[in-house]
Amino acid sequence: MEFDADVVIAGGGPAGLATALLARRAGMSVVVVEPRADPIDKACGEGLMPGGLARLLALGVDPAGVPFHGIAYRAGRRQAHARFAAGPGRGVRRTTLQAALRERAVSAGVEWSSGRVAGLRQDSHGVEAAGVRARWLVGADGLHSRVRREAGIASTAGAPARFGQRRHYAVAPWSDLVEVWWSAHAEAYVTPVAPDLVGIAILHRRAGLGYEPLLDGFPELKARLRGAEPAGPVRGAGPLRRTVQARVRGRVLLVGDAAGYEDALTGEGVSLALDQAEAAVSALADGDLTGYEAQWRRRTRTYRLLTRGLVLLTAVPPVRGAVVPLCVAVPPLFRGAVNVLAG
Ligand SMILES: Cc1cc2nc3c(=O)[nH]c(=O)nc-3n(C[C@H](O)[C@H](O)[C@H](O)COP(=O)(O)OP(=O)(O)OC[C@H]3O[C@@H](n4cnc5c(N)ncnc54)[C@H](O)[C@@H]3O)c2cc1C
Repeated sequence: MEFDADVVIAGGGPAGLATALLARRAGMSVVVVEPRADPIDKACGEGLMPGGLARLLALGVDPAGVPFHGIAYRAGRRQAHARFAAGPGRGVRRTTLQAALRERAVSAGVEWSSGRVAGLRQDSHGVEAAGVRARWLVGADGLHSRVRREAGIASTAGAPARFGQRRHYAVAPWSDLVEVWWSAHAEAYVTPVAPDLVGIAILHRRAGLGYEPLLDGFPELKARLRGAEPAGPVRGAGPLRRTVQARVRGRVLLVGDAAGYEDALTGEGVSLALDQAEAAVSALADGDLTGYEAQWRRRTRTYRLLTRGLVLLTAVPPVRGAVVPLCVAVPPLFRGAVNVLAG
């Protein structure tokens, strides 16, 4: 049987490129198929948690950005701070992260192919997708994964339906923490990404509402931005929660958002994608995908439980209103939760 590559990867985002790099390290030949041209941008809070940053550095990828040393929760004049015990995370623009990952992947011998994976076929020996015949296919094509659908893996959008929108502002970061501002209906995540730029991602349940009306719900944050020019377009994503029936079907395996997603509330998506890439490549190197599902469940368990719990609890108005006061009143609780997420 002739193959063009050992692995074909649908999607050149963080999950796909981390999988590609690790697969090359394991001696496999890899083709990444990605439909979008550079610079690839995406709605994202752009905060790499310390654990995710360490994984990225271990891949030999060191993107420019701004270190942040913890998380602050803010509502009106109240604020709770928790610093990371294990060193800083880093605010990195998606376009910068993407370019650094891609450059590293291509120099490691990953073949980049412009196109969209569709009409995939598989048999007991291999898969064919986007004109590439390979032993394995990795679906790293994001929240609305086509690979997942074409492989026959069912998925459902979960409740409550939450959405994310992000925009940059040309202003010097005013904190060395990622700030999360809480209002009755939304959270706004402020991440320093350059000495003269912050990104503000807003998570909410109001489908169809524009970025400006959402930002109006944070008057203190708006006051901070007075005079700062928006830098670049608004980008959106959602609905965020997606439960996925399985991670493996035959010779197809899912990583990153394609494998299932809870919410951006805890800012871990990229860190999780990098972690899943390790488990995926270990299964591919073994030539046996059967253990990947259990690995995926184990590696994402804390994220799934904590994030789901927080989303459900904060959907209840009195609980939502109590989040920041509670974090202010019980600093060890907040510090503990933040440092679980940091890892
Ligand atoms: C508002 C918001 C804020 C967030 N904030 C943070 C944060 O602060 N920190 C953090 O770590 N995470 C955050 N996340 C989560 C993070 O953005 C994702 O978890 C992460 O991008 C997942 O990477 P991925 O490679 O799985 O998917 P993606 O980054 O979505 O990449 C998927 C790629 O697949 C490509 N593709 C799509 N269809 C096909 C196809 N048919 N064939 C081939 N390729 C295809 C796409 O073009 C894309 O490049 C946030 C998410 C949102 C929505």
